[in-house]
Amino acid sequence: MDGLEVDSCERCPALCESRSRIVNGDGPDDAELLFVGEGPGENEDETGEPFIGRSGTVLDDALRDAGLGREDIRITNCVRCHPPDNRDPHTDELANCREFLEQEIATVGPELVVTLGKVPTEHLLGRDARVTEEAGSIEEARIDGTPQRVLVCVHPAATLYDASQKETFTETIATAAGVIGAGEGDGQSRLGGF
Ligand code: URA
Repeated sequence: MDGLEVDSCERCPALCESRSRIVNGDGPDDAELLFVGEGPGENEDETGEPFIGRSGTVLDDALRDAGLGREDIRITNCVRCHPPDNRDPHTDELANCREFLEQEIATVGPELVVTLGKVPTEHLLGRDARVTEEAGSIEEARIDGTPQRVLVCVHPAATLYDASQKETFTETIATAAGVIGAGEGDGQSRLGGF
């Protein structure tokens, strides 16, 4: 790993076979919010950028509603290679890629890590999680021995097949924005323009 980027890796035979490229995190290297997804999907594998498919659009909409843009946040995944048939990453694959994720978290030093879905939530909190019930809650975790606040969130894709999750998702993103004081005062400044 060079800084935040993994240039080459052959640790996971199945993922080396299924990937077109390694998908590294994207966004400012000093972002206050670091979002962590599961692993690159097909669109991300094609382009090399995280969350640019339908899940990314759902995320962008919620960020905008909360007064944030993609340029304000950093986003990465638990594994950096597209798993075959979009399956969940296996335990050994998560473990193989963990060092890169931990290095990214340590380098960025975010105020808050936001876990998108069950896989990153359980991976970073080190316990079973029911994300639909826990979404919006903030837990003090230890990641590689360092204290880190983690906000549990449902995966944006969940809102596409279960509309009832949309509100939970939007509210959780608003919570994340509130933690870093984003969007505050926007209404006032906009009113001032009239
Ligand atoms: N889903 C994820 O978890 N990560 C991506 O990068 C895209 C979709």
